[in-house]
Amino acid sequence: MAGKRIAVVTGGNKGIGFGIMKELCAKFDGLVYLTARDEGRGLAAVKQLNEMGFSPRFHTLDVDNKDSIAKFADYIKTTYGGFDVLVNNAAMAYKNAATEPFSEQAENTIRVNFFGTLNVCHALFPLLRPGARVSNVSSSAGHLLAIRGDEPAASELRKKFSSPTLTEDELCSLMNDFVEATKAGGWKAKGWPNSTYVVSKVGVSALTRIQQRAFDNDARQDMIANCCHPGYVDTDMTSHKGPLTIEQGAVSPSYLALLPPNVKEPKGAYLWYDKQVVDW
Ligand code: NDP
Repeated sequence: MAGKRIAVVTGGNKGIGFGIMKELCAKFDGLVYLTARDEGRGLAAVKQLNEMGFSPRFHTLDVDNKDSIAKFADYIKTTYGGFDVLVNNAAMAYKNAATEPFSEQAENTIRVNFFGTLNVCHALFPLLRPGARVSNVSSSAGHLLAIRGDEPAASELRKKFSSPTLTEDELCSLMNDFVEATKAGGWKAKGWPNSTYVVSKVGVSALTRIQQRAFDNDARQDMIANCCHPGYVDTDMTSHKGPLTIEQGAVSPSYLALLPPNVKEPKGAYLWYDKQVVDW
């Protein structure tokens, strides 16, 4: 089966991820893998896609479980030798009414949304083939200016996040600093916002820039990573308050997944849901 083009979507069983699945099944020239942490929910989504005339493949993938990530990577490696497109869509968000302590919300949100995505990339990037496309689903909450705790500390943090020489280790330290600050208290005075989701998504946006820098120096040619805000979408995450449909939310992430060979841009960019590059 080596040689067949392969696309992978995380959290593909519902919401925007399901919208991305539909779009890729319709437009990607190759096999599209719907991955989900729960086999039952994943297979039910595959069945729905089958009823629409699409033929996606399925594999379980819990981005919050290193063992699950390793198993999936091993499966892709032994079955296909490599793959071509990765859409990092899976994420979680606490509701405004959540009663868990803020530090607990911080620990879980940063672990799943940032470190989960990072761990998936660490396991799967070695398997990406030349010409690969990585589409990271960030958020408007992942804009740098969303880091708005007390000044001047917030400006200092924004400077660190946006440094063109920021390393992955330094970014991980920033994420861990935030979690520690929520445990110690006084995170706002340290510049952090009152949203764990914001910090997790700013982390994903900053990670995308680091990934593109690495791709620019990769022996594999034409490797591109971008991130986007999919829009405010009618999904479980937004308690169905978003005005956009999942199909509309899938536009920008799918566009980034399907960027044609040898495009000059976008690269390492942050896009809005209308596919426009936004200054991060
Ligand atoms: P949903 O809550 O509807 O869907 C989230 C998806 O992620 C589900 O498939 C869920 O699986 C999956 N998921 C959660 N945790 C894990 C995990 N540990 N491993 C694997 N999959 C997991 O959210 P949306 O569709 O709204 O969000 C999709 C993406 O878009 C997210 O990255 C979100 O942050 C982003 N986004 C959404 C916006 C919106 O307005 N909806 C706005 C901006 C960004 P399960 O069914 O098992 O829970």
